[in-house]
Amino acid sequence: MVRHFSTHRLVCWRLSRHCNRACSFCLSTSGPRVAHPGHDPFVIAERLLELKVEKISYSGGEPFEYPLFARLVDHVRELGILQLVTTNGDRLSIDIPAWIKSFEYVKLSFYGSRSIHDRLMGRGNYDQQLSLADRLISAHDVTVGANYMLSAESVDDVRVFVEDVARCGFNDVLFQTYIHNRRTRVDRRFALSGPQQAIARLRDSLAGYADRLPGGMKVHDYSQRDWFVVLDEAGRLTLPSSTAEPDFIMGRVTDDVLQVEPEVPVSARSALETIWKRRFDTDAIIDLA
Ligand code: SF4
Repeated sequence: MVRHFSTHRLVCWRLSRHCNRACSFCLSTSGPRVAHPGHDPFVIAERLLELKVEKISYSGGEPFEYPLFARLVDHVRELGILQLVTTNGDRLSIDIPAWIKSFEYVKLSFYGSRSIHDRLMGRGNYDQQLSLADRLISAHDVTVGANYMLSAESVDDVRVFVEDVARCGFNDVLFQTYIHNRRTRVDRRFALSGPQQAIARLRDSLAGYADRLPGGMKVHDYSQRDWFVVLDEAGRLTLPSSTAEPDFIMGRVTDDVLQVEPEVPVSARSALETIWKRRFDTDAIIDLA
């Protein structure tokens, strides 16, 4: 089934910074030695419903490493909130649980086409992700999308990638501009010197490719701020920055009052409405149709 890219009333929930991997470029500096947070995710999910969140996009860390994930997904499904998950695919490649059907769709992470991706994620991982997508689609009837990190290395590598994922039955691709993780040497290697110029190059490269994927292709330009809400593993709602600037902290998800910008406190519900509304005004979400 074709899925759209709606980010309206969506919160990206970085459940935990624990991950089975420790990629140097990880935007959340996740890794195997980071402990899972101790908060109650079921209470947080209910708070999100109260705040009128209609869709949760789980990320991390690696969501499938989070011990309460299966129970949480079940709980959120019962609350009637749509769910999608971005994953490195390692656990799913070993075993695909029956509750995978609870997701509106599953996004697999890519960092370039085969040679760049495998250099970063290990030899054979690119094909492992494609084969996982094939199983999710054909044996489990799951809609699969790709998240592609647009970095200085990968920006010119997109055509081969789109051809590969189109052949494997992916629904869509979301290109995401590299987000600084403030490890200076890493950022120097991966950061886009000019995100807007990179996006223009991407547009040129993919001219004529729009109809390859039923759900289309988009770019999220994270160098532009304040249009995307992230709930971090510490229970804070933040407006992340993909530059060297610090993320803006709106407040805790349980707070009655949040800030949409410094010194502008409003009720929590209005704060989220304000950010969601910006989604329609921003030019940070670019349709590559
Ligand atoms: S697999 Fe993803 S979440 Fe895990 S360390 Fe790498 S980039 Fe971060």
